[in-house]
Amino acid sequence: VPSPPKVLRVALDTPLRRLFDYLPPEAPVPLAPGLRVRVPFGRGERVGVLIECAERSELPLARLKRVKCVLDTEPALSADAHALVLFAADYYQHPLGEVYAAALPARLRAGVALEASETHYRAGAPARTRLGPRQAALLAALAGAPLSREAIEARAPGSGPTLATLLKRGLIESLEVPAAARALPARPAAPGPALGHAQTSALEALTAALGRFAPFLLAGITGSGKTEVYLRLIACALAAGRQALVLVPEIALTPQTVERFATRLGVPIALLHSGLSDGERLAMWRAARCGAARVVIGTRSAVFASLPELGVIVVDEEHDSSYKQQEGARYSARDLAVLRARAAGVPVVLGSATPALETLQNVAEGRYLRLELPERAGGARSPTLATIDLRVHAMNGALATPAVLAMERHLGAGGQVLLYLNRRGFAPSLYCPGCAWIAPCPACDARLTVHLRERRLRCHHCGASGPLPFACPRCATELKPVGQGTERVEETLARVFPGVAVLRIDRDTVRGRDGFAAAFAKVRDGSARILLGTQMLAKGHDFPNVSLVVVLDADQGLFSTDFRASERLAQNIIQVAGRAGRADRPGEVLVQSACPAHPLLAKLVAQGYGAFASAALAERRHAGLPPFSHLALIAAEAKTASAPMAALTSLREQAGAVAPVRILGPAPAVLERKADRYRAQLLIESPERRPLKLALERIAQLIEATPGRSRVRLSLEVDPLEVG
Ligand SMILES: [Zn+2]
Ligand SMILES: [Zn+2]
Repeated sequence: VPSPPKVLRVALDTPLRRLFDYLPPEAPVPLAPGLRVRVPFGRGERVGVLIECAERSELPLARLKRVKCVLDTEPALSADAHALVLFAADYYQHPLGEVYAAALPARLRAGVALEASETHYRAGAPARTRLGPRQAALLAALAGAPLSREAIEARAPGSGPTLATLLKRGLIESLEVPAAARALPARPAAPGPALGHAQTSALEALTAALGRFAPFLLAGITGSGKTEVYLRLIACALAAGRQALVLVPEIALTPQTVERFATRLGVPIALLHSGLSDGERLAMWRAARCGAARVVIGTRSAVFASLPELGVIVVDEEHDSSYKQQEGARYSARDLAVLRARAAGVPVVLGSATPALETLQNVAEGRYLRLELPERAGGARSPTLATIDLRVHAMNGALATPAVLAMERHLGAGGQVLLYLNRRGFAPSLYCPGCAWIAPCPACDARLTVHLRERRLRCHHCGASGPLPFACPRCATELKPVGQGTERVEETLARVFPGVAVLRIDRDTVRGRDGFAAAFAKVRDGSARILLGTQMLAKGHDFPNVSLVVVLDADQGLFSTDFRASERLAQNIIQVAGRAGRADRPGEVLVQSACPAHPLLAKLVAQGYGAFASAALAERRHAGLPPFSHLALIAAEAKTASAPMAALTSLREQAGAVAPVRILGPAPAVLERKADRYRAQLLIESPERRPLKLALERIAQLIEATPGRSRVRLSLEVDPLEVG
């Protein structure tokens, strides 16, 4: 028998970047990394995760406290998920305890049992007094194996009060026994449509990789049948006795998506997303962990779910920015999915019609294998794209005359029209023609958006709102809304297309999963003819009757300080364009811009996303930007204006990075004041990962040691998605 370890090193959910040493419990128990332990901490107790057993501590053993109890007999996470948590903490320079906390359901962090249990009852001490006939009968029934309340009720209906009485008298005792994870419903699998040629060869390549690590990009235009390929691949993994993990963007986890997987695969499916209660989340998580659920469909944090028999991972719409966690442990679920696949030795499929430039570069460098679905299923033709030059045409509000004419044509032919504008509200600013005053947010360096129907001004950065003023507070001139938001376009449409049903889809009009379902039902049954919306429309919903798409303002994305803005714009344009057209009616896409000759926009419109991506990658290579370099962002925010810059300047001096790592800044954030806090940032850039990681380790230590952390909040983000 090996002697018990002297020290247990435990990860706790605190912002401190270290493990906490404890003595093992007095009574010897099995110990292994990944077990949850309850430990004294400060004046209270915490639940942490045992990370390693050690022989020594930096502290004298006499000063260490003892673990109160070991909660588990086996690790909470499967080995590959545990390894992923350790990797993520190291790579993203985030405290391990916080990453582990993000990976576990809230109730497990509070210490509930790993496995579901159920109360059973059995006869206890023999009775010394006379019993009634019902009591005697119940005791006789419970003399053998313990029974659940349901089983008792089935044998002796109405025996609840008797059970309670006998429990109170100690004649019956209760005990907790493991319950089979509440099985999720499964339906018989339905057959799918026949596969096209490209789908068949993609599926062959994918199934051949089952049983080993292999990363794939499944590049397929909208409507090319990517989901069908996922379903067949998953069915193969299931047939081999394995589980599947499917990651989807937050917004795509609709009842229709789930329904499609459930009816086709015929196995119990666990869903993991932010809309679950703690109890539901725990039940789903347990079903995945014990193997009762064969498929897990979830949003980004599901990448950490425990799947003991994981056989394949799918990341749908891999370019979607909702895979990036923007608070706390700032990880990319897409990137972690690839690492998890490697740890588990399984294939991973990243699917998209508009792959991220990083992913395309991984293909170019031979790390990922590209599979192509170049055609729309059923022979539908891809839509044609053209630009409308906003400088030369008369405007009806946000609509240039050629767009109005095209809309009349398509509506007249019975088609639906989709208008895309990534700006909600009535107008992005309220302006005084008398003195040029513009309504500012009191808490941000931003203008307030006019919401005319509610008669309010709202800040889209901090959420502040106030009543809509009629006259200028400085000179009393009547104020004018300037610019176009979806609410204003809706008003224009009512004027230009009277009597045509318009459906606006943005965060002001559609809320929650049910709101989506209701809105999309109106689109599908044709009761809405013109759809108008923000990027909510670009995400994964099919509108088969839409024959014309108008992108109202492409210029927002072309001239941003964020180097990824043009990539996001191109992805959004192609994603909304993908909603247009079908077999008998090819779609048309019109992109309104005041600079149609912009090289990236011109490439996108004339040659498509692939040509755009090549040109954008060439620009990034030239500028030394990701994926040709690696970035980290140190953000500082504070209530006083000078504190963030001062903190970052001092951090930069102490960090003293060595080449090839470059430290850029500090500089005030583009929106320097947000929600009454001042913000600045420092960029750390390196052509290679290794030196960047070394520099970040040092900076993370400095951040932790920075005095006055409470006044200036410093955060570190590796591979930031939004810069500027
Ligand atoms: Zn004025
Ligand atoms: Zn604000």
